[in-house]
Amino acid sequence: MKDGTMTLPMKHRFHLPEGVIYLDGNSLGPLPKGVTERVSVMLSDEWGAHLIRGWNVDDWMGQPMRVGNMVGRLIGAPDGSTVMGDTLSVKVYQALDAALKMRPDRKVILSDNSNFPSDLYMAQGLIAQLGQGHELRIVDPEEVMDALTDEVAVAMITQVGYQTGYMHDMKAMTAKAHEAGAVMLWDLAHSAGAVPVDVSASGCEFAVGCTYKYLNGGPGAPAFIYVRPDIVDQIRPALAGWLGHDAPFAFEGDYRPAKDVERMRVGTPPVVQMTALEEALKIWDEVDMAALRAKSIALCELFIAEVEQRCEGVTLASPRDAAMRGSQVSFAFENGYAAMQALISKGVIGDFRAPDIMRFGFTPLYIDEDDVRAAVDILADVLGNRLWDTPEFKRTSRVT
Ligand SMILES: *Cc1c(COP(=O)(O)O)cnc(C)c1O
Repeated sequence: MKDGTMTLPMKHRFHLPEGVIYLDGNSLGPLPKGVTERVSVMLSDEWGAHLIRGWNVDDWMGQPMRVGNMVGRLIGAPDGSTVMGDTLSVKVYQALDAALKMRPDRKVILSDNSNFPSDLYMAQGLIAQLGQGHELRIVDPEEVMDALTDEVAVAMITQVGYQTGYMHDMKAMTAKAHEAGAVMLWDLAHSAGAVPVDVSASGCEFAVGCTYKYLNGGPGAPAFIYVRPDIVDQIRPALAGWLGHDAPFAFEGDYRPAKDVERMRVGTPPVVQMTALEEALKIWDEVDMAALRAKSIALCELFIAEVEQRCEGVTLASPRDAAMRGSQVSFAFENGYAAMQALISKGVIGDFRAPDIMRFGFTPLYIDEDDVRAAVDILADVLGNRLWDTPEFKRTSRVT
């Protein structure tokens, strides 16, 4: 599937604005070439020309499973075990509900404080909805392994933390969860397309993730959910929508789940957005994930070394050990928000996460060593000459 013949980076495959060094592909990947044309054709030749017939003749109905297989190949999931739809928060809710129902005698959902708040909020909402006295237990990321006791129903863990890039060992943690009798639910939001992932080898029951970060599907691109094939038949979906029904167009009075992972679909898929994603995912056929990971580590190591040598006042917030880090590097800096705004004004786009984290994503598809050095030149200028220290850069926007 992956011949690995493409050499990294593949900058020519992306629309990258002149004068920008884009270190925020961990939040929103850039626009891959070909997507604009493909979406335009979809609009005119499919929706425009075929109207309602597009569901059949253009197979819009099969797209969530077809695109799910493309994502599945990237995360080590067999064909037919991954489906697209909704947003990641919704997929977290569905997977967590299904996982809890597999362990009705246990009440603890284990997570850690590096997790993204939406995952924790969804768990809190689900606990209230179920009203069965579940507890969301949150520990430090380093303590998860020890906290996997026989009280735990589900370990709901995001493999790579959004703030510092702290990365869990999927295989070891899943094995420990299973030893404790717990169900394992992985959130791969910062893993898919960033690091090699093999859900099958890990043996986890559930995995979910989004596609607008390292998979470059565009803002609002649909999420994915993987369910281990041997357990999927037992799932009674919490969100029992008609497109997760075994026969949506029979319009039966009662819900019957569709076969396999298709039961995790809910309602009408976002076809335009899914088409952008499907086109964007084609690039991965040419990428060798081991080579991508090696390059990502090299870029991150170079960035850390250069920043620590040339920039004053910032402290590495990410794990120093590359094996424990995803594809991003974070530095803590008291005036991180203003410093990031100053950086962005000079063409280096990263982002800021409260309270003081300056976050830089390294995506070897379109970032190389020269970009890293050029970004550090600008960061050193911003910090050394206090370019951030103006009211203009301290005004906060709605999205940071
Ligand atoms: C990005 C991210 C989300 C975002 O969820 P949406 O529903 O897609 O907005 C949720 N969880 C994690 C771990 C993330 O990294």
